Amino acid sequence: MFKLMIHGGAGAILDPQRYEDSLRAIITSGREMMLSGASALDTVTHCVTLLEDDPLFNAGHGGVLTHDGVVECDASIMRGDGMDAGAIAGVKGVKNPIKLARRVMEDSKFVFLIGSGAEEFAREHGAEFEDMSYFITPDRVKQLEQALKDDKTTLDHAEDMDKDDMGSGVEEKKLGTVGAIAIDSNGNLAAATSTGGIVNKRYGRVGDSSVVGAGTFAEDGVAAVSCTGYGEQFLRTALAGTAASFVRAGSSAQEAADKAIRYLEEKVDGLGGLILIDKDYNMARSYNTPGLLSAKADDQGVKVYIK
Ligand code: ASP
Repeated sequence: MFKLMIHGGAGAILDPQRYEDSLRAIITSGREMMLSGASALDTVTHCVTLLEDDPLFNAGHGGVLTHDGVVECDASIMRGDGMDAGAIAGVKGVKNPIKLARRVMEDSKFVFLIGSGAEEFAREHGAEFEDMSYFITPDRVKQLEQALKDDKTTLDHAEDMDKDDMGSGVEEKKLGTVGAIAIDSNGNLAAATSTGGIVNKRYGRVGDSSVVGAGTFAEDGVAAVSCTGYGEQFLRTALAGTAASFVRAGSSAQEAADKAIRYLEEKVDGLGGLILIDKDYNMARSYNTPGLLSAKADDQGVKVYIK
């Protein structure tokens, strides 16, 4: 028995068919792996790698652009067995940030590496690098141009800037962070999340996606969780860990996911979504955005959600 879920971010999308096709291909590939006995950890790594390679999603190739016009990646991975974790943030040029996070987990004595140090570790460990032009797509250039224009207006009203950023602007930014969670036949849980962050970010801004307990969490005997949404709000509510704590306290998977999103909304007026699998092989998703691009699979088949 196994269960697998992936997400491609929360928010509104313009071309549902393209997203649906991609999510279906990726969940199917992960399902085949699990059918042939792959571990939850290997499968979530595989699925997030494919999502990073697809320019539709805001991770790796096609990630959103920073204020300076580059793609800066954040990613984290956690295994429920032993609760080992690896994370990287503010990394440029590494083709698959999730593979680097996994390297950090397995080949270093640290959990979280950032910026040039993480890139140095990546080089020392033979990670694949690409030129910045590989990561930047024409759509993202347009998106940044728009964000820069808006910022100029917003700067004239500096006090409103945060509020604007965290309110209706979020949907327009089409959050497209990716994630995967799974439980395998041994009952081992794993979770992985990867992102380019938010459009026009600066000053080395890091959101929740690379932060264990905020964007990603896995604990055997409890749950695996991957989040997407406005990172600042997920950081302040430690949302992935919060969702898992509801399972630990006895909630069903769906109750825990819904309670976590309610908590996000009530405490910090947050926006976003999450996917969750509990120790009993129950899958759940919850969100308060217009949609949560996601898909799930088990030995029975596959289901894709474009809302
Ligand atoms: N959580 C991500 C971040 O704040 C954004 C997203 O989910 O799209 O960096």
